[in-house]
Amino acid sequence: MTLARDPSGTLCLGGVRLEALASEAGTPVYAYDLDAMAAEARALREAFDGAPHLVAYALKANTAGGVVRALAGEGCGADVVSGAELLVALACGIAPERIVYSGVAKTERELDRAIACGASGIGAVQLESVEEIARVEARARAAGRDVRVSVRINPSIELEGATHAHIATGHDRAKFGVPRPDVAHAVRLVEASSRLELVGMAMHVGSQFTDTAPYVQAVRVLFGLVRSLREAGHGRALAFVDTGGGFGVDYTGAAVPIARPADFVRAARAEQSRHGLDDLALYVEPGRSMVAAHGVLVARVIQAKVAATARWLMIDAGMNDLVRPALYQARHRIVPVEHELVAAHAIRWRVVGPVCESSDDFGEHSLPREPPRAVAILDAGAYGYTMASQYNGRQLPVEAFLRGGQIVGRTERTTVEQWAAARARAGA
Ligand SMILES: *Cc1c(COP(=O)(O)O)cnc(C)c1O
Repeated sequence: MTLARDPSGTLCLGGVRLEALASEAGTPVYAYDLDAMAAEARALREAFDGAPHLVAYALKANTAGGVVRALAGEGCGADVVSGAELLVALACGIAPERIVYSGVAKTERELDRAIACGASGIGAVQLESVEEIARVEARARAAGRDVRVSVRINPSIELEGATHAHIATGHDRAKFGVPRPDVAHAVRLVEASSRLELVGMAMHVGSQFTDTAPYVQAVRVLFGLVRSLREAGHGRALAFVDTGGGFGVDYTGAAVPIARPADFVRAARAEQSRHGLDDLALYVEPGRSMVAAHGVLVARVIQAKVAATARWLMIDAGMNDLVRPALYQARHRIVPVEHELVAAHAIRWRVVGPVCESSDDFGEHSLPREPPRAVAILDAGAYGYTMASQYNGRQLPVEAFLRGGQIVGRTERTTVEQWAAARARAGA
């Protein structure tokens, strides 16, 4: 457990007192426990039992260099979805061969970057459509380089109720991946090219799975396809199968345990053996499960507002800082920072931010009747800062990096004066 209260009752993350952090760094501030993230990576890698694998951390969950370096230090590669994320992964010391690049609409410039890096380009450009194949081939010819590619299939299955509609990507109306009926055609096109080398077959079916069953259902579609392609004489250069990310985290803190990332890996490995694919490395692309639980967003309470109909607790973090509740109806636990909640003094507060949108609302929470000075929004290490915006002229939150019970780094907040001057200059 990376969150704990010290003897005085104040909340600590990774051994750092969050009240002190809030005073030092200002709020809103994201705090990340790098030791716990590294431990998450170690635990996941152990689940492979020494079999060839790559944990390609999906950078879009959290692109902060401190986080990426902590995971790279545990042997993780990267899954990137833009040229910009590719640059972060490379700058954090991840070897090009350990990077896979997903995304449905990569620009020529992005493809050129992926093809040009290192001695032989990145590990694989993940092809997400038949149409993309000719585009990648054209850039490979222009660069005079061979390019390793993988075909990301869309397993075209409905995983009803398994995850939120906005984060399900493996059904046949989703824009992601090569539709199942087109996969054989895509493979033939790649294999006919003298510049493209088919090294992988991949999928990613969505996010926040809390049970392995729907994931395994999709894994079977992928592995079944790979097996029949090979039986038909294709895929001779295949080096890996990639079952994507999507391992869930428990945002509720409930007593009922959900499937752990290692459980998904073990389930996928069992299917791999069953399909006779043990000669291939198994890649996974976890984002959320590596970082979500080990980050918090600390905010100050600005004021309360009490009406006959509701009681609002207004904090200095808003939907621009953490958009998941507004975007996905996500619910994050919110706890007081300085003292543990005493049941007798608890009352229901609707916790809201300062942004002028009704959806700037973190939901109803039990918090002290006497408003605390600061609160921590839990499980905010993934899809928090990376989705933040400057809506309403709000500055991006700062980020603090914790290791060994110390703050080992933090970012600086831009000033509202800088922001206002830049906006005023726009169009001048
Ligand atoms: C977002 C994404 C992931 C990571 O998903 P999580 O739910 O954060 O594990 C993995 N692969 C691809 C292609 C993605 O787009």
